[in-house]
Amino acid sequence: MRKKCPYCGSDKTKKGFYNNQRQRYRCNSCGRQFQNHARDKRLEKTLWKQYVYQRQTISQLAKKYKKGKDWIREHIGNVPSIEQDHIPQPIIAIADVGSAPHLGNRFIVSAQ
Ligand SMILES: [Zn+2]
Repeated sequence: MRKKCPYCGSDKTKKGFYNNQRQRYRCNSCGRQFQNHARDKRLEKTLWKQYVYQRQTISQLAKKYKKGKDWIREHIGNVPSIEQDHIPQPIIAIADVGSAPHLGNRFIVSAQ
């Protein structure tokens, strides 16, 4: 059974090279590389959020997770750019509903 791409969901993936003793995969659809570890992806998101929202530096994160700075950089870099663009903006949603109250909840649904 082929491994599914965690980024685009395609199953056109290929077993690739080893990186730090770990099997890596490459997706033929979106071209991204990933490892066979769901945990890594969650950690990457956590790292990225702390880096972006909590303004932690690479050195702070490296110390916190007891990893090298290169490791932190690599894992922050692996977060797909599509999610980086998807920063939630609840304030705008609330403002829109407030300026068009007759649209009510339907507006919220269509905005998502
Ligand atoms: Zn993909």
